[in-house]
Amino acid sequence: MSNIRAVRGMNDILPDETPHWRYLERTVSRLLASYGYGEIRLPVVEQTDLFKRSIGEVTDIVEKEMYSFDDRNGESLTLRPEGTAGCVRAAIQQGLLGGPQRLWYAGPMFRYERPQKGRQRQFHQIGVEAFGVASVDMDAELILLSARLWRQLGLVDAVQLQVNSIGSSSARRAYRSALVAYLESHRDALDEDSQRRLHSNPLRILDSKSPQTQAILDGAPALADYLDDEARSDFSRLCDLLQAAGLPYVVNPRLVRGLDYYNKTVFEWVTDRLGAQGTVCAGGRYDNLVEQLGGKATPAVGFAMGMERLVLLMLETGAVESAGQSAADVYAVAVGDAAHREALAAVESLRDHLDDLVIVQHTGGGSFKSQLKKADKSGARVALIWGEDEVRAQTVTVKPLREAAEPGEKSGQLSVPREQLEATLRTVFADQIRQEE
Ligand code: ATP
Ligand code: MG
Repeated sequence: MSNIRAVRGMNDILPDETPHWRYLERTVSRLLASYGYGEIRLPVVEQTDLFKRSIGEVTDIVEKEMYSFDDRNGESLTLRPEGTAGCVRAAIQQGLLGGPQRLWYAGPMFRYERPQKGRQRQFHQIGVEAFGVASVDMDAELILLSARLWRQLGLVDAVQLQVNSIGSSSARRAYRSALVAYLESHRDALDEDSQRRLHSNPLRILDSKSPQTQAILDGAPALADYLDDEARSDFSRLCDLLQAAGLPYVVNPRLVRGLDYYNKTVFEWVTDRLGAQGTVCAGGRYDNLVEQLGGKATPAVGFAMGMERLVLLMLETGAVESAGQSAADVYAVAVGDAAHREALAAVESLRDHLDDLVIVQHTGGGSFKSQLKKADKSGARVALIWGEDEVRAQTVTVKPLREAAEPGEKSGQLSVPREQLEATLRTVFADQIRQEE
């Protein structure tokens, strides 16, 4: 019988990686709290209609990437492919939209895509959404907040900010006709994907990866020429604010987003260090979505970052070390029943006082030799040893496992009276233990 394996594109995140994830989560949650954002935890499953009505029927996500199923009542449900729709649904349902509201969430998202580096079928996003403010100072706040995050994570040099405005929906409609008319005349030269999108979602052709299509786009009408006055002046004000804050950015006139609900400002943080999956953070304004989903008209702006890509980038740039810390600081071994009892009690009492240290108690028995081999492998700096001699003398042997012993000295081993064990470990690990007041 063949073994059961994880679903393709859905990865296990192993203990040598989780510290990076926690570091990322800790940094983000602290930062967001300091800007006044509150965390919201949302269901992983929503009604399929929620995504159809928000993301848009003719987007890649809704057309071919959603995990949808009928539950036992025959209701169509979908594993969330992104977080904004659910967040808006919750904000409406829970009455959170009385005034400005700053929210964030983190968790797994699901899209049926071709798995590759930085692209999974289950992936994780941290999303940030700000409701109730129509002016671009809110767009600027979100962008500056994300920039601060890159500084805190040590990624500033690895990412670039791209911004654009996609205007109102009527401006986009006008542009869409002009774009389609132009592309029709070059239809045969377009890549296959773009030909397919020509009538379903032509704006998406702008960010086609095909060089041939990009060359054709060089002669295409520009979205910027079709923007309504309000979008145009908002965009120039946003650029001003970014400049005033000293934040470098690039205007990318072909930046559009793959979801229908955006208007006006769109932005992405991109890197050239992760191959084709270069966008680590993307977002924009979506002033019509709340109303479209049945709420009171409420302007909104938000973004989401891809956690897998950020962790990859942190490893790639050396912002975090991939080696993983050693599994233990202290490894306790004991041979004989009395020694065992003593060791167990002593280690528990150490844990009461030294919770900065990772103390691993050997389990499963065995000789001193085999237990000490495990101690060595654990990466611990010291082993604590209990045997018949120690029980009789009421001592513990403290054996350094890392420092080279002085020649002639019995490997730097110490025999420590039982009640001095904690103090001895405090000295050995002085660099690692928080000092008491
Ligand atoms: P892409 O163009 O890379 O497919 P997208 O436009 O579909 O991205 P969004 O829906 O805006 O992405 O999601 C925001 C972020 O979430 C992306 O910038 C990326 O970092 C991350 N992301 C999106 N899809 C995936 C995926 N399948 N695997 C890993 N990360 C993803
Ligand atoms: Mg995508």
